[in-house]
Amino acid sequence: MSANSVAPNAEGGQQFRSLPPNGKKFKAGVLGATGLVGQRLVSLLANHPWFELAEVAASERSATKRYADAVRWHLDVPIPEAARNLTVKTLAPSLDCDFVFSGLDSSVAGAAEEEFARAGYPVVSNSKNHRMAADVPLLIPEVNAAHLDAIPLQQKNHGYSSGFIVTNPNCSTAGLVLVLKPLADVFGLEKVFVVTMQAISGAGYPGVASMDIQGNVVPFISGEEEKMESEPQKLLGKWDGKRFIDAGLGLSAHCNRVPVVEGHMECVSLSLKKVASLSEVREALSNFEVDAALAALPSAIRHPVIVLDDEARPQPRRDVNAGNGMAAVVGRVRACPILDVKLTLLSHNLVRGAAGAAMLNAELLAARGFFQRRVNAGREERVAEPVSS
Ligand code: NAP
Repeated sequence: MSANSVAPNAEGGQQFRSLPPNGKKFKAGVLGATGLVGQRLVSLLANHPWFELAEVAASERSATKRYADAVRWHLDVPIPEAARNLTVKTLAPSLDCDFVFSGLDSSVAGAAEEEFARAGYPVVSNSKNHRMAADVPLLIPEVNAAHLDAIPLQQKNHGYSSGFIVTNPNCSTAGLVLVLKPLADVFGLEKVFVVTMQAISGAGYPGVASMDIQGNVVPFISGEEEKMESEPQKLLGKWDGKRFIDAGLGLSAHCNRVPVVEGHMECVSLSLKKVASLSEVREALSNFEVDAALAALPSAIRHPVIVLDDEARPQPRRDVNAGNGMAAVVGRVRACPILDVKLTLLSHNLVRGAAGAAMLNAELLAARGFFQRRVNAGREERVAEPVSS
């Protein structure tokens, strides 16, 4: 299916809207563009078929500098040409773009994202601040695309016109919930017990001091266990037209920082509502497949859960980039003597858990007609896209 075609979306019952017939890209701004997540967003926007990088913004420390001078670049690929000479702006909501990604530090993300939404910008956020808000979709397109139906109520509640906020989950929640979703659908889920081994890049830059993490494990990540115990409830729950209804899972998380650069590992034990054999569990995970409309989004992969047979996998060094970093890689599916099943999973914290997740969210929003062309930066004047059906 091409990006311009219209396809039914089974989950939400809506139709995908076509992208503009002239194929003109939406202009994207990146708030927090100098950070680890922001850099990934800048990199993913290079040659993106639907979006082009138009603006970068960060703190006063970076503002007014050329992006290439302000950023401490951490990726193995060079800074994209389109970004190098952009001038870094402050967080004033007057950027010349159609929507913004936010990779802002949580100390500033809450207020800044609201200001951008109020000024008419769709905000696609990585930050924790609005994730659990009663009218903000916490979105994984493969899991709960129907939660986008909350956007009109959010706009009404806050007096936003065309602006709104959509968030992606915490980096370790993202991989976990992708794996839980097919199991919840096929067997039903009762309890989940998870122990994480999380990479240092999950803490931003410079993150954990090298003397604290080299040859060491730190058994505490501030706020992480609370996020892992609450966000899956919302993600796997339902939007009933007025509110999000939690999934009602029993969830317990232990979160650890380990000396790995990229990739969060998670050891998971879970109990299912229906009796299932291990081969049925493996099959449910391997068969998890997104519909054609979702698979047509540029960052989507058809099978977001990859099951490996090798008993010593997944491993961060070998498997972190599976599915362009958008897959949750599962191994060691086996019987659990206390709950029903246990397994190990790995996902890329900066891609599936952050920038790639936000990109996929933005693509779904664009495909569903939530983005409009902004004709005059900083004002509410907009031109609606023609929508074909
Ligand atoms: P980071 O490397 O510390 O980057 C933070 C960004 O916020 C930088 O661009 C920084 O700009 C900007 N910033 C900080 N203080 C600011 C201020 N007062 N005003 C304006 N901008 C300010 O953090 P990160 O790892 O990229 O994470 C970014 C967000 O994504 C955080 O909310 C984090 O919790 C979330 N997240 C991170 C991950 C991950 O794996 N790292 C995963 C999921 C979600 P300057 O460079 O100018 O200081």
